Amino acid sequence: MSAPPLFHLTRGQAPLFVSFPHSGTYIPPEIAARMTPVALTTPDTDWHVPKLYSFLDALGASRIEATHSRYVVDLNRPPDDKELYAGQKKTGLVPTDTFKGEPLYGDGEALTGEEVIARRKYWQPYHDALAQELSRLKAIHGSVILWDAHSIESVLPSLFEGRLPDLNLGTFDNKSCDKDIADATFAAAQATGFNAVLNARFKGGFITRNYGAPKKGVNAVQLEMAQTIYMDEGPPFTYRPDKAAKVTTAIRTMIAAAMEAL
Ligand SMILES: [Zn+2]
Repeated sequence: MSAPPLFHLTRGQAPLFVSFPHSGTYIPPEIAARMTPVALTTPDTDWHVPKLYSFLDALGASRIEATHSRYVVDLNRPPDDKELYAGQKKTGLVPTDTFKGEPLYGDGEALTGEEVIARRKYWQPYHDALAQELSRLKAIHGSVILWDAHSIESVLPSLFEGRLPDLNLGTFDNKSCDKDIADATFAAAQATGFNAVLNARFKGGFITRNYGAPKKGVNAVQLEMAQTIYMDEGPPFTYRPDKAAKVTTAIRTMIAAAMEAL
C-alpha cells in the first residue's frame, strides 16, 4: 500500500469548517515495523466519525480529514507537547501506549526525543492547511464556525470516571467560542435525546484552543462523542447504521444551531 496524502481537504463556501484529526488509521511501514500487534489495530481511533458527518457537502462546508493514525502524531496536541489537561493522564504528541495502557512500541523500540521531534513533519501540514482554509473562509464571511469532530470509547478509567456522556461539547470555557453560539449549540444538544455536557471533562483540545478566537471571527467547538452511541466498541469496531442515523441527526441539529447563532 502506498502512503496516502496526510489529509484530505474539501473546500466549501459556507462559514463552516469541520476538522477530523483522529479518524485516520494509516501508519507508515517504517513506524509500523517497530510497533506491537495491538498498536497496529489502532484501537484509539475516532472510528467512523467522518461517516457521521455525511451531510456536510450539502451544507457547503469545508472539511479536513487526517489519514494517518493518531499514533503517528496527535494533531490535537501542541507541537511542543505541553500538557492539555492538568492533573490527568498525559496523552502526548506522540503516544507511547494505548488509552488502556498497552505499549505501542516493542521491546527496545522506544522513541528517542529526536524521533519525537521528527514526527512534527506529520503534524505541520495539517495545521498549515487548516489555518489557510480558516483564513479563506474568514475573508469571505467575517466570522465562521470551526467544528473539531471526535469520538472515544465510552469507558476508559485511565482518562475519565465512569461512563462518558453521549455528547461532550467543548468551547474551552467559552474562550474559543462566542457564548451565545456555545449556549445555542448546547441547548440543541440537550434537545436531541442524548445526554449532553458543555465544558466538562473535554473542554477542547489544541485545535479548539489554538484556532478559536471569537473576537477575531473564529468560533471553535469541539464535539467529543461516546462511541457506544453509534458503533460496537472493541474489535472489530463495527459501525452500526441502525444507531448512527440518530447520531447524525443530532450532530446536524447542533451544527445548525451554531450556524443560526453565528
Ligand atoms: Zn479524537
